[in-house]
Amino acid sequence: MKLIEWVKQAKTKIDSLDAELIAVKALGFYDRVEIALHSDDDYDMSLADEMLERRASGLPLAYIIGKKEFFGRDFTVNKNVLIPRPETEQIILSTLSIVKSEKMSDVSILDIGTGSGCIPITLKLELRSDGIESKISAVDISKPALEIAKENAARYGADIDFYESNLLENVAELPDIIIANLPYVDINWDWTSPELKFEPAMALFAEDGGLKLIKQLISDVVSKKNDLLGKHFLILEADTSQHDDVIGYARSFGLELISHNSFILAFKY
Ligand code: GLN
Repeated sequence: MKLIEWVKQAKTKIDSLDAELIAVKALGFYDRVEIALHSDDDYDMSLADEMLERRASGLPLAYIIGKKEFFGRDFTVNKNVLIPRPETEQIILSTLSIVKSEKMSDVSILDIGTGSGCIPITLKLELRSDGIESKISAVDISKPALEIAKENAARYGADIDFYESNLLENVAELPDIIIANLPYVDINWDWTSPELKFEPAMALFAEDGGLKLIKQLISDVVSKKNDLLGKHFLILEADTSQHDDVIGYARSFGLELISHNSFILAFKY
């Protein structure tokens, strides 16, 4: 079948960009430019057809092509990890801005619930290109997620200490900055994307209106802190509708809100 014909009919069934990205993946192309270059060539499109069917039935594109772009880099993903979200890129910006405003020349960072590892890997690489030394660790409760995170880190040459931990359970020492994009979706919300059902429930849903793990982390962080002088930071992602609750809870534990945008909350403690 001529590639251009396959692409044309695929675009009537799924999103246009998704159709092209499926063709690129199925044919082993480097990028979408090759579609234009080979549009009149004949190909066996059976693998692409199979991928198209899965996309049409709702499976997220990232799981079909096995990757997702985050902060300008591709990360390998599979069904064991949450697909990186654009809103989470704000965590990167918020962390870099704290490192700069605090004039840290070296910094220790811990990412909790790392999933694909997109947060610690991106930070390692961005800080390195800014000439800042970082010691970065990342934990997850899920072994298969840690496997993917390690694979991503190895591909980017990012030296990160990955280990298994439920929140701070196996964490010996608190770093300068803790980052956590924990599960915060309330299973009863009726406005979430239908694609969530394909992602790991343990990475998305939490009890107590979605705030159970975020609240537990806030209280664990405070009870684990053992110096009074140090400046520590906690950067969290939560839905906008939850922010007042998170801020109130954090303040009741003595945390100070230092910045705040639609999804991200940064505290000092
Ligand atoms: N922002 C994600 C969503 O609403 C949720 C991610 C999370 O639970 N950490 O799809």
